[in-house]
Amino acid sequence: LVRSFTSPDKSPGFLQPSLSDGTIRIMQWNVLAQGLCQTSDAFILCPNEALNWEFRQHHLLEELLTYQASIYCLQEVDHFDYFNSNLSKLGFEGVFYPKPDSPCLYEPNNNGPDGCAIFWDSTQLQLVSHDSFVLRRSSGSKTNQVAILCRFKVASGQAQGREFVCVTTHLKAKKHHAELRSQQGVDLEQTLCERAGDLPLVLCGDFNADPDETVVQVMKQSKLNLLSAYTLLSPSQEEPLFTTWKVRGGKKGGQEESVHTIDYLFFSKDKFHCVHLLEMPSEEQLRPNFLPSFAYPSDHLSLAADLKLID
Ligand code: NDP
Ligand code: CA
Repeated sequence: LVRSFTSPDKSPGFLQPSLSDGTIRIMQWNVLAQGLCQTSDAFILCPNEALNWEFRQHHLLEELLTYQASIYCLQEVDHFDYFNSNLSKLGFEGVFYPKPDSPCLYEPNNNGPDGCAIFWDSTQLQLVSHDSFVLRRSSGSKTNQVAILCRFKVASGQAQGREFVCVTTHLKAKKHHAELRSQQGVDLEQTLCERAGDLPLVLCGDFNADPDETVVQVMKQSKLNLLSAYTLLSPSQEEPLFTTWKVRGGKKGGQEESVHTIDYLFFSKDKFHCVHLLEMPSEEQLRPNFLPSFAYPSDHLSLAADLKLID
């Protein structure tokens, strides 16, 4: 299912952004680790054939290429070489940073650890520097979650020479780990204050946190002056109803339905103007299998925003 882009004021969007006027399309997507999707995840409404790598790999790439972003911020990447070899033919470069102790490594026939990755169109953007780090608790000890920070310079067009920072992360999963996520968020926010300085900032990730959770408030109340892009689609400035919708097999044959907004695309609201957002599918469009399925290769929906650097 191909979604369209819409502007926050609901005027029709263009399928392709124009980098010539300083607009950068950024996609946020948890692509679902292959190592987890056929075992520990137990997606009981998804046909197993839809999860086979031989099938799913093409649909993951199709989604990336359909929306023609300049930057892809991805989580649960356990096939970096696959994405890198295909995207590099189109002029993209990428960086990958694995989780220290990825759960994928405990699965049979795994393809290595999963982690975060950022890919960028090197014909449009020049990488100035990048840094990858493990997130820490407030005690200073390391957790099993990571982030990547890339500093880019716009290569051409109206914004040529302007620099900005793009960051991605994947915070600790499961509801009862809200306190750990909060500490990870505080660590990340402090690092961004130090490293991003006054540069325009985009922060994308699977925060594994509902909108009312502390870690989301840490980002929204930060002096980094961040706005969550998808709140612009709602008249009351609320987050979307869901960015993931899956049904897992529970213990003793039960079912667990998980419908949450946990993925976010934040940007510096005084330095970028959000021109377009990739629309979210409706509940009807996810039925009957929800996520993942033959139509949607991940259990998370991709988010994408066209962000224009303010002069
Ligand atoms: P997280 O707790 O952050 O989650 C790991 C993955 O599990 C995420 O990608 C998450 O997806 C997914 N997930 C979330 N909820 C569920 C669920 N209800 N059922 C199945 N999968 C879910 O990972 P960590 O890396 O912090 O923790 C994993 C740790 O567990 C590792 O340190 C490893 O040592 C250990 N481990 C050990 C195993 C063993 O056999 N000994 C097996 C597996 C892990 P999303 O973000 O999309 O919600
Ligand atoms: Ca997952």
